[in-house]
Amino acid sequence: MVCHVSHRVILIPGDGIGPEVAEATRLVLDAADVGIEWERRDAGITALESHGDLLPDDTLGSIKQARVALKGPITTPVGTGFRSINVALRQELDLFAAVRPARALPGVPIRHAVVDLVVVRENTEDLYQGIEYERGSVEAAALRGELEALGGFRVREDAGMTVKPISVSGTKRIVRFAFEYARANRRRRVTVGHKANVMRYSDGIFLATARQLASEFPEVPWDEVQIDHLSSQLPRDPGDFDVLLLPNLYGDIVSDLCAGLVGGLGLIPGANIGWEYAMFEPVHGSAPDIAGQGKANPIAMILSGAMLLRHLGERGAAENVERAVDEVLRRGRTRTPDLGGTASTMQVADAIAATVSEWEHGPS
Ligand code: NAD
Repeated sequence: MVCHVSHRVILIPGDGIGPEVAEATRLVLDAADVGIEWERRDAGITALESHGDLLPDDTLGSIKQARVALKGPITTPVGTGFRSINVALRQELDLFAAVRPARALPGVPIRHAVVDLVVVRENTEDLYQGIEYERGSVEAAALRGELEALGGFRVREDAGMTVKPISVSGTKRIVRFAFEYARANRRRRVTVGHKANVMRYSDGIFLATARQLASEFPEVPWDEVQIDHLSSQLPRDPGDFDVLLLPNLYGDIVSDLCAGLVGGLGLIPGANIGWEYAMFEPVHGSAPDIAGQGKANPIAMILSGAMLLRHLGERGAAENVERAVDEVLRRGRTRTPDLGGTASTMQVADAIAATVSEWEHGPS
């Protein structure tokens, strides 16, 4: 057993099933024995209750110090004026790239022979930048006035508005990130998704910038596809796609679509990467419908933990965790209800942790 501390990681359990899958992940990563010192911090409804703030300064400050965080899902109250803490965290830490791999896992029945996709999503701009004006507000009225004066646009009085900014500089970094990722991970191709024929000045920038920068990576094949066409092709022939480079909103939706292709949200990990900080989290939300019942599948968060290990330079441990997930799924005895099993969150975690531990230290 390694006793030294090699890595300081902020652990944000989050809301709903978050604490359950976070505890499960911690157990598995501790079994990998790479000397992680966990520092627990709160965000979301849990933080609102304990600190009176959805995103306490202390949480943000700790992530900035440690530079790396593992985060559970956070509940965003709908239509209550609360801003999404996930969006706020990604913007505050400038985590501009979201990486969400979706691959077929052993023993999980799916419709297609091959699914091995990675969504690379721009994470800070687009309709998710958070520029919104509420229906009936003074600001919405002023913006409607401006729009009419500028372009003769008549926006209905009872409309709320969300703005979609996409910049050349914001797109450049995500395009380079995606192509570098494809090259480093020996991926087959990058496909750029867009709707530039309709949103000429936002998606148009995304597409034009991708076209321009792709020439910097002659060894990475790439193509482009309209997002509606992608939505019909991807579920039919996922094997035709590989790395999907997408603006923020499409990236969010398409990564859930990819989750559906490989057996559900409980299986898809995610990384949010910036120049200075990185935060790892499952793609799924806080699943209030099953929270507190020990039914949540911890695999999405455990695989997010494996991505964290790789980021920390612990490649062997990351591979062990991923192989242990495969092994437990292959054996088929220990599965949560979303995969047709009866095991609890912690039983799945125990089985994966025991496998990791056996590979690290030999049978106990
Ligand atoms: P959700 O992902 O929480 O749940 C959708 C469905 O998938 C539910 O039926 C749920 O039971 C199931 N599910 C999700 N994760 C699962 C798991 N690990 N194991 C088994 N089943 C699982 O999506 P939602 O219901 O739209 O959102 C609930 C809350 O989560 C909302 O407040 C939303 O804003 C928030 N959310 C947070 C994040 C995040 O923190 N990154 C992401 C998405 C949604």
